[in-house]
Amino acid sequence: MTNKTLIAIDGPSGAGKSTIAKALAKELNISYVDTGAMYRAFAFKLKELGKTDYTNVSEITEILSESDISFEGGKIFLDGVDISDKIRTEEIGSIASQISSISEVREHLVAIQQNMSKVISMIMDGRDIGTVVLPDAEHKFYINADVNTRAERRYLQLKESGNEEKYEIVLKKIIERDHDDMTREASPLKKADDAIEIDTTFLSLEETINKIISYIKE
Ligand code: C5P
Repeated sequence: MTNKTLIAIDGPSGAGKSTIAKALAKELNISYVDTGAMYRAFAFKLKELGKTDYTNVSEITEILSESDISFEGGKIFLDGVDISDKIRTEEIGSIASQISSISEVREHLVAIQQNMSKVISMIMDGRDIGTVVLPDAEHKFYINADVNTRAERRYLQLKESGNEEKYEIVLKKIIERDHDDMTREASPLKKADDAIEIDTTFLSLEETINKIISYIKE
């Protein structure tokens, strides 16, 4: 790839976005930004501070404006500390989902994401990349999969990372998360009109990557 290329990947929880985006970034030799990790990093900070009430928007946004959330070498840093291994729990995911419905939080994180995309080619994944963060991205994909398949994948992911949860609970939380992400007022999860939808229910990672690459090269 010679010119700067921006690739937007969106989709619901557990569809495999991060795994796909990471593998694709490696294949295309460009950077990868996991925007969900940024919402999770801020959720982690609120948890560390003992905040459980997210209704005081000015307090929440003040904490966010004093927080330093950045990426380096594929790791996410909060205030200079690598917290990559601490944000993949269901609890943090649930806090992330709650604070992501606050438009001031979104505006702050979207501005950081748009800044990162100004200079170099990158793949960004999240819920609002094709619609809000990178509306002019050259390539947009909406990754989806059957809800049971997504719950199974998330269950295995959690188990592998040592954060095992009961399958039924994981499924219930995915259904709740879908509902919250799709119905919130601020930038709800939806497929951008010009995004290509890929259903990965019956596709392996390799098949999905090949499919995406063939669309990119078209
Ligand atoms: O993708 P991940 O599960 O790590 O994201 C955690 C939560 O952060 C999502 O459920 C969603 O509510 C929120 N999020 C968002 N916009 C993004 C990325 C994540 O609202 N671009």
